[in-house]
Amino acid sequence: MFIDSHCHPYHAHDPLAVLSRARSCGVTDFVVPAYDHDSWTAVTHLDSEHADVHPAFGLHPWVADQPLDLVELETLLRRPGVVAVGEIGLDFKLDTPAPSIQIPVFRKQLALARDLDLPVILHVRGASEEMLEILASDGPVPGVVHAFTRGPELARRFLDLGLYLGLGGAITRPTARRPRRSALAVPLERIVLETDAPSIGLEGVPAGESEPCHVVQVATALAELRGVDVDEISRITTRNARELFHLS
Ligand SMILES: [Zn+2]
Repeated sequence: MFIDSHCHPYHAHDPLAVLSRARSCGVTDFVVPAYDHDSWTAVTHLDSEHADVHPAFGLHPWVADQPLDLVELETLLRRPGVVAVGEIGLDFKLDTPAPSIQIPVFRKQLALARDLDLPVILHVRGASEEMLEILASDGPVPGVVHAFTRGPELARRFLDLGLYLGLGGAITRPTARRPRRSALAVPLERIVLETDAPSIGLEGVPAGESEPCHVVQVATALAELRGVDVDEISRITTRNARELFHLS
């Protein structure tokens, strides 16, 4: 049994087929973040039909220049079954809205997560120092740094704030030394598994073609790296995801 703690099945050509393939691979739960106005709508259609699909809503840093109506977002976050605010964060690496636009949007959503007592799903690229500073000054919130690919030193600083790390396709690549070093160094109790399907590829699976069923490949890579069996990875990362997102 596995939980894909971060996937976007609504981007698939046939989301229902993707979900059912994953279920037959042993995936019991899907945390599905919606990150802009279109995906907010897509996820509200998907989650009402599937008890194992757990939605999250947020405005992604890539689209931080879209209007953010906090009342609308709060209404979505109060829907039954919503498990997190996300994905939200900071991305100063790609061609994204200016930091001066991203930062207030991020902080408003952090505050909303705190008010609603929900964990956050964090996207961070090229902005770790800024994010750590904001989390330290605004006060920590429970959550996960999704698609973590950096080294153990930075991992430790996020762990010190009480966050989990989301490990995905990167650790399946033998050449990805930095994320694999983190996958070894971080306590298993603070790791959740994810695919970010279909966006992020894995060894042998190109980006754009991954599916939540590939979370099994992530678990297997983690088991091999740590020299434990995959059942232990399954048991502990499932427990972690259930605790973080309050899944029953
Ligand atoms: Zn994502």
